[in-house]
Amino acid sequence: MFNFCSLYSGSSGNSLFVETDKTKILIDCGVSGKKIFQALEDLDTSIEKIDAILVTHEHLDHVQSLGMISKKYDIPVFANYETLEAMPKQKEKIDIKNQKIFTIGKEFKIGDLCINAFSIPHDAANPCGFNIYNNSNKITIATDLGHMNDELLNNMKESKFILLESNYEPELLQYSKYPYILKQRISGPKGHLPNEIAGKTIGYLTKYNLKQVLLGHLSKESNMPEIAYQTVIEQLHNDNIDTDELKISVASRDKHSKLVEIC
Ligand SMILES: [Zn+2]
Ligand SMILES: [Zn+2]
Repeated sequence: MFNFCSLYSGSSGNSLFVETDKTKILIDCGVSGKKIFQALEDLDTSIEKIDAILVTHEHLDHVQSLGMISKKYDIPVFANYETLEAMPKQKEKIDIKNQKIFTIGKEFKIGDLCINAFSIPHDAANPCGFNIYNNSNKITIATDLGHMNDELLNNMKESKFILLESNYEPELLQYSKYPYILKQRISGPKGHLPNEIAGKTIGYLTKYNLKQVLLGHLSKESNMPEIAYQTVIEQLHNDNIDTDELKISVASRDKHSKLVEIC
């Protein structure tokens, strides 16, 4: 068994779940504890069964309840040094024995999962995505991407499943009520990934074994699930990518996704 579930995904809060027969982890805790506990119960599990929490970066939409959950349920938190230091309010709640520092590019293990973090272009201290392996199966978590580049594409190759950011539609962003400076930040090289580039990225990865995709971290103000999905599909068709074998869906901001079975 190797399963993935997006508990919540969007610019308003993120928390993801991965499980095997032996190991259960969360990636980020960017919504209230109550919401995370509820989603885990819906999946017939509970916070008490979580072995570890991985952290992508210190922005509040990824760590809102991290410290509280780690403290209350005595759960180890895996973050890189800069990320941990950049969230002192969370760090002070995490028991020293539960502060597990990893290095980007250096593989580490949690139970029967192998994890390799990779750098992402985003305006945080040392933000990262994750490649997670169980036996020979690889999945990738990649959100908060200011732009796409060769290094990222190389890191994502050979994943069977990816949770990929599809944050905004440029025209909707342009006419959204966000202040100009925030629009510049979102569309800048260390902001977020637009739908079209998500589509191009998926097209590329289908040549390297990609089978299932969940589009995630959608903006509330400048995207809609239907638009993200449609734009990605159109991009794949424009690039002559055969989508028959590919499963694509959109992660919701306020409810958990279906359980994605990798194997
Ligand atoms: Zn962020
Ligand atoms: Zn984010």
